[in-house]
Amino acid sequence: MNPYVIFWIPAALRLALIWIGAGVLWFYYGPMVGLLAALIAMTAIATMQLHYLYRLNIWLDVPDSEKLPDGWGAWNAVFARLYKLHREEEKSRAELNEWLARFKQAMNFLPDGVAILDNVLFLEWCNPIAERHLGLTLERDKGMRVTNLIRHPDFINYIILGRYDQPLTVTLRDRRIIVQIIPFENRRQILVTHDATDAERIDTMRRDFIANASHELRTPLTVINGFLEIEMTQPDLDPATRKDHMRMMREQGERMQMLVEDMLSLTKLESTDFSLRAERVNIAALLEQVQQEALALSGGKHNITLSVDGPDITGSIEELHAAFGNIVSNAVRYTPENGEITLRWKDTGSGPRFSVQDTGIGIAPEHISRLTERFYRVDKGRSRETRGTGLGLSIVRHVLLRHKGSLEIESQLGKGSMFTVIFPSTIIAE
Ligand code: ADP
Repeated sequence: MNPYVIFWIPAALRLALIWIGAGVLWFYYGPMVGLLAALIAMTAIATMQLHYLYRLNIWLDVPDSEKLPDGWGAWNAVFARLYKLHREEEKSRAELNEWLARFKQAMNFLPDGVAILDNVLFLEWCNPIAERHLGLTLERDKGMRVTNLIRHPDFINYIILGRYDQPLTVTLRDRRIIVQIIPFENRRQILVTHDATDAERIDTMRRDFIANASHELRTPLTVINGFLEIEMTQPDLDPATRKDHMRMMREQGERMQMLVEDMLSLTKLESTDFSLRAERVNIAALLEQVQQEALALSGGKHNITLSVDGPDITGSIEELHAAFGNIVSNAVRYTPENGEITLRWKDTGSGPRFSVQDTGIGIAPEHISRLTERFYRVDKGRSRETRGTGLGLSIVRHVLLRHKGSLEIESQLGKGSMFTVIFPSTIIAE
């Protein structure tokens, strides 16, 4: 409504009423009574205004919208408007709080750390990932300068030089953390952190794998090239020596082929695009085949027995054949002549198990946890002598990972080893 109508018209009417009343009293009882009555009425109005001002003042101290004072005349309108303004402010504050809570929740789901720093690099806020990456506690560290919180010299240099266009990689609490500062409005800065430990480890593993594979391939190649050189420079070699050279070249060629095949198998098993082709596996048939292959590899030098007392499973026949075959061929290769090799398939109640026990050379305890690493061998000479690639147990580990199984190794140096594949009961075929 028009403020003119609200304020001035009632006020003018009130004044007119007072003066008319005073005029009437003046007329009947004389000027003193008329003026006194006017004075009393004016004082009453002024007191009332002061009373409402006082109540407004009290309310402003604690502006609780439910307890807004009732007013009279124009005060009614003033209080109503204040009430409306206050409700609107409360509503927008609630909306802001809700938005802030949503924003914080979203920040908590980010895989990377985010911290907000003020114009002098004091910590204003950070998400839990940044707390973890940088070793901070928001409640404790809020308002502290970031260079006092992260005291790594490389980080302090990064801040001093201010070359924020490039990220910085630092080791904080044994993790490799990529840190980048992004300036934004009002000279504030956002500090973004990313944990690159796993990515760096994979990168190092990949580099080591390439270096190891190149090294493994170079040895047979050097041998082959050496014999070829002899063949070319000494054409009149006697046939027996030449035959011997040919045989050795062939052996090295086969060795290279086995290496390449194992490397390709590993790459395939590791690839996430290569999904498991699961089918019913006739365990008795598969293990009999593995036993026959072991007998052929042993050439009658070992006693290899098999007992099957457990259910069929679901999985990839080809992959399980490779995994079981590798464990069994290791038992043959690392067990001296006349040794015993026992293959057992049984159900334990918590899932089926395949164990391969040998009476071979055994493994010292310090090597056991590393056997499934690529190219890890306890005795390089013996592994090569027996045509090992150093990748067999890595292949086993990957096949088992894909079948939700695990490998347990028990061994006693000089006495023998037992390799046990443990499957969950979910793998049992219906
Ligand atoms: P390799 O091709 O060299 O046999 P593997 O990955 O199959 O590679 O095995 C890794 C290493 O584990 C072998 O070099 C060997 O030292 C050790 N190993 C595996 N199986 C046995 C076993 N049954 N007895 C003794 N040592 C074993």
